Amino acid sequence: AKDSERGSYAFYDSILTEAAARKLYIANELRTAIDENQLEVHYQPVYSLNDQRIIGCEALVRWQHPLHGMMMPADFITIAEDAGLISTIDNWVMYHACHQAQQWLQQGLALSFMSVNISSRLFDRGDFLTSSLQKALLDSGLPSHYLELEITESSIMQDPSQSTALLHELRNTGVRLAIDDFGTGYSSLSRLKHLPVDKFKIDRTFVQNLPHDAGDLAIIRAIAYLSDSFDLVIQAEGVETREQADFLQQYPGILLQGYLYGKPMPAADFATLLADSPAP
Ligand code: C2E
Ligand code: CA
Ligand code: CA
Ligand code: CA
Repeated sequence: AKDSERGSYAFYDSILTEAAARKLYIANELRTAIDENQLEVHYQPVYSLNDQRIIGCEALVRWQHPLHGMMMPADFITIAEDAGLISTIDNWVMYHACHQAQQWLQQGLALSFMSVNISSRLFDRGDFLTSSLQKALLDSGLPSHYLELEITESSIMQDPSQSTALLHELRNTGVRLAIDDFGTGYSSLSRLKHLPVDKFKIDRTFVQNLPHDAGDLAIIRAIAYLSDSFDLVIQAEGVETREQADFLQQYPGILLQGYLYGKPMPAADFATLLADSPAP
């Protein structure tokens, strides 16, 4: 019995070690990834029902690993957070996305906004965030109102009063602000009204069962009502079916993002899509 016990300990021990070793391996590989330009940005289209065309996009990071091929955010974002690398990644994506957006505008493409994700780690470092934001805008020449920062509801609610101050500061640079994964972060209504933001992004979990789930219907109705009262734009994430889009059409001015309009794609493909979508 003793032997088998020891055996099972050794077994669990080696699993833990393996997981830890893998994390360490990924974290180390990530460090070189940034230096060796293995990161890429893909762009997912955002469709405007009013304009009946693609008007913007969300920048999403991808990692082209020389041995393991394309790595998705789910494979490395958490590891990057734990290793203290996520701010560097976000910063790189923001810098890159600003240059890309400015290039598209100069080519005459009808792009209204470029969104980038800001992790809670970067949001917690307000000074670093504002200085890297200013550098990205200045170096790229992108007019600030084209850039949108997506900050999750949960990172804002970690310290609502400090967040509100930082959001004001960010907005003073002229960028737009979106609350990402809205509906999942337990905002209090009284807090919300003081947040200087432009957009609520309705989390995919509330969209995927439309129009059949009564609870999700109620939540979407409530978010639409709030955004209307606060004069904010709503953008639904994860729209995959025509039925979902048809249902969401009842909300005037709503923006739609999801596989129905396009998956995240390389820059060249997005530029083609944008060029093919009718000008306003
Ligand atoms: P997110 O910010 O909520 O981004 C949307 C995610 O949903 C993307 O996954 C996108 O590909 C996926 N998606 C969009 N439409 C659909 C749909 O119709 N159906 C389904 N099933 N999925 C859809 P992705 O690119 O794998 O990114 C996952 C998460 O990783 C993002 O969720 C975001 O939290 C994080 N992430 C991605 N890029 C960055 C980045 O540059 N910085 C930071 N901090 N986080 C990032
Ligand atoms: Ca996002
Ligand atoms: Ca989201
Ligand atoms: Ca989400």
